[in-house]
Amino acid sequence: MTVTDPDDLLYERYRGASNRSRKLEAYYALKPFVPRRLQLALRRAYAPRQARATFPAWPFESTLVEHRDAQLLARLRASGGDRLPFVNFWPGGKRFAAVLTHDVEGPAGVANVMRVIELERRYGFVSSWNFVAEWYPIPDGLFEEVRAAGCEIGLHGIRHDGKLFSTRETFEDNLPKIAHYVKAWDVAGFRSPATGRNGAWMHELPVEYDSSFPDSDPFEPQPGGCCSIMPFFFGDVVELPITLTQDHTVWEILRSPGIELWRRKTEWLRRHHGLVNLIVHPDYVVEQPYLDRYEAFLAHLAEHDDGWHALPRDVARWWRQREGLRIDDRGAVEGQTGFEATVAYASEREGRLVVAP
Ligand SMILES: [Zn+2]
Repeated sequence: MTVTDPDDLLYERYRGASNRSRKLEAYYALKPFVPRRLQLALRRAYAPRQARATFPAWPFESTLVEHRDAQLLARLRASGGDRLPFVNFWPGGKRFAAVLTHDVEGPAGVANVMRVIELERRYGFVSSWNFVAEWYPIPDGLFEEVRAAGCEIGLHGIRHDGKLFSTRETFEDNLPKIAHYVKAWDVAGFRSPATGRNGAWMHELPVEYDSSFPDSDPFEPQPGGCCSIMPFFFGDVVELPITLTQDHTVWEILRSPGIELWRRKTEWLRRHHGLVNLIVHPDYVVEQPYLDRYEAFLAHLAEHDDGWHALPRDVARWWRQREGLRIDDRGAVEGQTGFEATVAYASEREGRLVVAP
């Protein structure tokens, strides 16, 4: 696929205006009347067809990766040199970045938060926790406890009813409430309920970053994706694409029993210097076998010392600062950053782009 304007993919304009959230709305309208087991059976039956979608391809949609690499190669050739210095994608000379995120859906999830944090702590990881503001009780002191463990609090919408992006009116009704909770909770990031989204409106969210766009996910009530494995901007809002398929989808819809899908995708993301961004629901990893699978993935991630394991807000802040960095005449990074920006080099081997830190 040739890319004329990457924004057509990033903003999901290729989907057309009609399809944006109607399916999501219909899904939520019918959900209370369809027994859970039947919902699951329908989604399972439909999944193999969804998995074969040609665009965006799942689980590896490479159009924008190829576009980025082709541009770097063109700049290298135009420079006339053997290697082209540029500001490395990630701080500290790291090859890829990884964030662990959690959407808390209800009381069962609330009750499981600290248990999951404890597990992550054993592998030296911290994570972000997205709560729905007006959907279930949040115990006093929980945010403080999460933050004391080095983790981040985010906003997972006001209500988890799939309506946020259904009409302009509901979206505008929600904006002041979102602004209120962003301030009251002192959060930097937003994750839309059920990954509902509209590329044309995201820049209006009063947050530092959003993380509601999968790179490619054909299984969600609102299927599609931004095709990007790197952060990008909706106006002033940094978008951190969700690049691993969600826990429930992998284990219940696709019935893939282990972490093979996550492992394969992580290798691919790592190869292409991308962002590993996983959602695990604390409501879902309640039973030990599920928690064990998550632990297996943490152990896998921990094996890679060339990854930047960070909180989403730091990844967003880095990406914002990276925008202002340049390579000076001496080949060094020029500009202000609170992160350790380094120089990477693009070169060409047998007609292909090679990036080395
Ligand atoms: Zn959710």
